[in-house]
Amino acid sequence: MADNPNAEIIAIGTELLLGEITDTNSVFMARQLRNIGVNIFFMTTVGDNLGRIAESIRAALNRAEIVITCGGLGPTVDDMTRQAVADATERPLEFHQSLYDSIAERFRGFGVRMTANNRQQAYLPHEALLVENPVGTAPAFIVESDLGIIISLPGVPREMKYLLTESVVPYLLRTFDLGIIVARTLRTAGIGESSLDDMIGAEILNERNPSVGLAAHHGCVDIRLTAKAKSKVEAESLLDAMQQRLRNRVGDHIFGTDEATLEGVVSQMLGARQLSIHILEAGLPGVISEQLDSGLSLVTSEALAHPDDLFNKLGRDTRDTTLRELAVDAVQRSRRENGTDACVVSLSYPDLDENADLEQGSAIAIATADGIAYRAYGFGARSVLAQDWLSRWGLANLWRMLKDGD
Ligand code: ATP
Repeated sequence: MADNPNAEIIAIGTELLLGEITDTNSVFMARQLRNIGVNIFFMTTVGDNLGRIAESIRAALNRAEIVITCGGLGPTVDDMTRQAVADATERPLEFHQSLYDSIAERFRGFGVRMTANNRQQAYLPHEALLVENPVGTAPAFIVESDLGIIISLPGVPREMKYLLTESVVPYLLRTFDLGIIVARTLRTAGIGESSLDDMIGAEILNERNPSVGLAAHHGCVDIRLTAKAKSKVEAESLLDAMQQRLRNRVGDHIFGTDEATLEGVVSQMLGARQLSIHILEAGLPGVISEQLDSGLSLVTSEALAHPDDLFNKLGRDTRDTTLRELAVDAVQRSRRENGTDACVVSLSYPDLDENADLEQGSAIAIATADGIAYRAYGFGARSVLAQDWLSRWGLANLWRMLKDGD
């Protein structure tokens, strides 16, 4: 069978169209199919209407080799998937006594009385392959027709997930010559998404295998590489080659891969190089220091409740000194006095009117033997943005300065 089959998902249920429930099933199925290299170009949602379900199945069969439906396999009159699959593939429904007996057995096991309409669930389209459902009563099935394969799964998420992963995915792997997909994430810091996009360039970002995409979060931007190949080894070697191309362009900003975190990498650098660091935080104690590995004896920290305490400590006047100047002054003095390899000073006013002054909300300065980096911003300490910004900017620049100081 084809190497790169296309699949379509059809979610069945009027509740979905009325917005009463969210179609989480399709999301789950799409991910599972992506992971085994099955392409999806269309997903459909259709209500409990026989004609429209059959029409959706026929339309999907015209475009794809595999159609997966979910929902509408229950015993009630609005459960029409069995009939719709039979209609779409022009075959009758047939009663299966053994299936009926096993459903009856299951009901007995649950201690629930089986009603007459449960008999409906023992009907399957002609020549359908039964997919046993040990986690529920609605039997699932597969029809291998001349038009393509239709796989019908129950709508109850727990049942759908079980049957998809335990039966359908292995069935697809057996039936089609599928490759596997392996993903890798290169983690960057200290550069915005649009600059990174620009540096990587359209030529790489438009590649299909591995595909390369950017995802920004918490002040870091991830470069996500996804390769599809016949084997894991082959996929990894495609990823290695792309990773090298990316390193040539933006390697200066990559601090790690996959599970690496900025705080983990910075802690590890400090520990491995035996570098001492002093962190002074006024207004937002702990935002940076608590992220670094507290087991490192070379990390010392100092907390002040308010930036004014630092003005007083350094004998500076709040009227003629900006927060940024204070941070720079403090970081230089602190490095001299503490004699540490690096020093970080962060300041954040708790009671700030956020629109007041862009330079007077929070400030941060970092000093190493090689120089100083500093920045001020308008967020005050009450804003979560200040916390995020201080820790991300602080760690990203600390990482860059430690790395460049090599
Ligand atoms: P059963 O016989 O167990 O009822 P079924 O195949 O008939 O299974 P449905 O009646 O269509 O399934 O749906 C059962 C329940 O599963 C719905 O009430 C809903 O809570 C949930 N469900 C159905 N489809 C989806 C979906 N696409 N995404 C998330 N939940 C769903």
